Amino acid sequence: MKCYIAFPEGVDFLKWKARDVFSQQKGSVLIIVAVTLVALLGIAALVVDAGLLYYTKVALSNAADAAALAGVQKLPKYPAEAQDVAEAYAIDNGVCEGGVTAEVLADGSTIKVITSKTVSLGFARVLGFSSTDVKASAKARVGTVKSAFGVVPFGVVWKPEFEPPEGQGMEPILQIVKYSPHTKKGDDIGPGNFAALALGGTGGRNYQDNIEIGYQMTLEIGDTIPTIIETEPGNMAGPTKKGVNNRLAKCQHDPPCTIDHYVKGCPRVVILPVVKSLFASGRDDVELRGFAAFILKEVDDDGSVWGWFIRMATEGDLSNKDDYGVVSYRLEE
Ligand SMILES: [Zn+2]
Repeated sequence: MKCYIAFPEGVDFLKWKARDVFSQQKGSVLIIVAVTLVALLGIAALVVDAGLLYYTKVALSNAADAAALAGVQKLPKYPAEAQDVAEAYAIDNGVCEGGVTAEVLADGSTIKVITSKTVSLGFARVLGFSSTDVKASAKARVGTVKSAFGVVPFGVVWKPEFEPPEGQGMEPILQIVKYSPHTKKGDDIGPGNFAALALGGTGGRNYQDNIEIGYQMTLEIGDTIPTIIETEPGNMAGPTKKGVNNRLAKCQHDPPCTIDHYVKGCPRVVILPVVKSLFASGRDDVELRGFAAFILKEVDDDGSVWGWFIRMATEGDLSNKDDYGVVSYRLEE
């Protein structure tokens, strides 16, 4: 691709030098005209130079930002790929080949991109400067999100096998996130609990609404406030089934979204709260650890819910907490 961060070099009038005018013309009027003209041309050219440098700086800066945000999406797992993506992106955004370097910093989650261009000058050429280097840089960082809106009330006690598989030949594994008396649940889920959560209120109707449209408030890591997030004891088969089926039906995509093909923002793609423990007897408050992203597949008659964990980027402030799959990207400078 042609690098188009450049400027028309149509400033040929600058080839008129003051001494050409003086050597060829006599007479005070002509000299005054010539001096005035040269001064005016000089000012005009200075403005052109300043504009050219400013334009180049802005374009390089925008390209660096875009490249850093493209590259950071490969972090922290694929640093080499992150650098390649960032450099390719800068070139796609008009930076000349050789005019971009991308580097992953020691923290492993920040990428720094430097873009540069040698700019040919107009007026400054008369003063002996034919060109100058213009540089811009950008840093972008990936982190887990601190808070999330619209989470769905199935509490996840994180296990390594939930880690979404990435890379060639890795098969996504169907996981259960809401249990029933007929599905095996871990020892970390207390008696009478099946991983249903009460968010912002208790009872079947509230729980079903939270499944269907997501909890309509923001949850933040560390939240333990009782009555905001606590276990919803009981199997809740009816509300679970209605809530999940209504939500699944909201996918208007053709074919309907599954792990093989899904559209970002589809109601089938949900954010689940990762909690410290669900080992509660009856109703108890739980501690929010982070957020996992999940594609809903199905619910059975007993109220068990299946789907797949995925990685997902969303808007939001970064935290330095453990990564359960929901991340955000941020420009740092
Ligand atoms: Zn869909």
